[in-house]
Amino acid sequence: MVKSYASLIEIKNEIKKGEITVEGLVRGYLKKISANAHLNAFNEVFEQDALVCAQKVDSKIKQGIAGKLAGMVIAIKDNICYKGHKASASSKILTGFTSVYSSTVVERLIAEDAVIIGRCNCDEFAMGASNETSFFGPVKNHVDNTRVSGGSSGGSAVAVQAGLCHAALGTDTGGSVRQPASFCGLVGLKPTYGRISRHGIIAYASSFDQVGSITRSVEDAALLLEVMAGPDEYDSTLADIGVPSYSNNIHPPSPKKIAYLQESLSSPGVDSEVKANLIKYIEKLRAEGHIVKPIAFEYLDYLVPAYYILAMAEASSNLSRYDGVHYGYRSPASTDLISTYKRSRSEGFGKEVKRRIMLGTFVLSAGYYDAYYAKAQKVRRLIREKTDAILKEYDFILVPTAPEPAFQIGKVEKDPVVTYLSDIFTVQASLTGAPAISLPAGNNSKGLPLGLQLITRHFEEQELLNFSKYFLEL
Ligand code: GLN
Repeated sequence: MVKSYASLIEIKNEIKKGEITVEGLVRGYLKKISANAHLNAFNEVFEQDALVCAQKVDSKIKQGIAGKLAGMVIAIKDNICYKGHKASASSKILTGFTSVYSSTVVERLIAEDAVIIGRCNCDEFAMGASNETSFFGPVKNHVDNTRVSGGSSGGSAVAVQAGLCHAALGTDTGGSVRQPASFCGLVGLKPTYGRISRHGIIAYASSFDQVGSITRSVEDAALLLEVMAGPDEYDSTLADIGVPSYSNNIHPPSPKKIAYLQESLSSPGVDSEVKANLIKYIEKLRAEGHIVKPIAFEYLDYLVPAYYILAMAEASSNLSRYDGVHYGYRSPASTDLISTYKRSRSEGFGKEVKRRIMLGTFVLSAGYYDAYYAKAQKVRRLIREKTDAILKEYDFILVPTAPEPAFQIGKVEKDPVVTYLSDIFTVQASLTGAPAISLPAGNNSKGLPLGLQLITRHFEEQELLNFSKYFLEL
């Protein structure tokens, strides 16, 4: 069986010594994927494609012309388009849809000789935090198969956790890369909004959506970021800022000033072992000479409502394109245009997606726009200003990634508000656009992974990565 390598550097060393080939690696992963089919991590495995691609990379390595990612076998979340391949966003409504172009991120990965091994299960249209809204069923956590993977990029996280590929891409709108990474004991990076192109990503909430990576090491996160980041003529929200060679510049950090949210230790909604773990790390950091201080964040209770009002509003607009006419599922019972719309959408979307389209339409409706949507935009601005002010004084904000570790499958499905509240610590970076990373920080008494999150200033991913590497060695 193929082993789980800590970083691409290890793989490259073994390739150099002639111990493995990329084709051999892909064959190993393919075997492991079928042996672990019960985890439900993949919606489709690109078996033949991946093998052909691996052979090409092997021959480029021999000729000495291989790119930076030669040896990287990567899985993509099923909302990231790859030309000539199906993409479903784990929804019935995209049944039969094949991408006619590739997303910029996929093009950039392939240009550097990564091999894409398959598309991963996720919450339907990335709406969820446990991968239970997927049309294809939940993904199981590899540590405990009765528990969720986290979401919405749950398949991507479990694919890496179970060693079914080396790294994976997810998308993070309100925590969907960071939270599953923390449930699976991995590194999950959400870069600054505007750092990585969204071209070819199936849109959920466009002012929040960002592509991120799920990896075992900070080095791999740095490498993937430098390959994927930077201006793209197809996404006008990208910042025209040069992309540093993140992976070559990881160095030990100087003493830092770190803030943590007081409420993450006082709130009854946070699991006691999650709190104890945070305290343990605060003490470790202090012992290492960093300044770590509690802060009060007066908008904490407004984070989740503001996020959900805005994300649902944007979703209701983005998802209006699924009409049973342009592409994807069309109800066989359609008789005319209106019944095509109604039936295709009623039958094609799952319950959670419908709930969000309805709520999003409501908050944008003429009578309620000012009361909800416009107000939430103002709250978003206040949250951004306050967060920026904190990050003027401190280098990082440290918070648990999630209030509790991976929970039982089926536990919260019945009460959506409980699920929404569990995004409390991830949506701050999403509302403000700040970069954030979830880092593995040990296990609880049941052996379930715990994650801690660091948030920093816009476009300071290098500092974030430097500190993360050091943090993992604490
Ligand atoms: N749990 C959040 C939501 O359902 C975040 C999802 C995401 O980041 N895609 O909106």
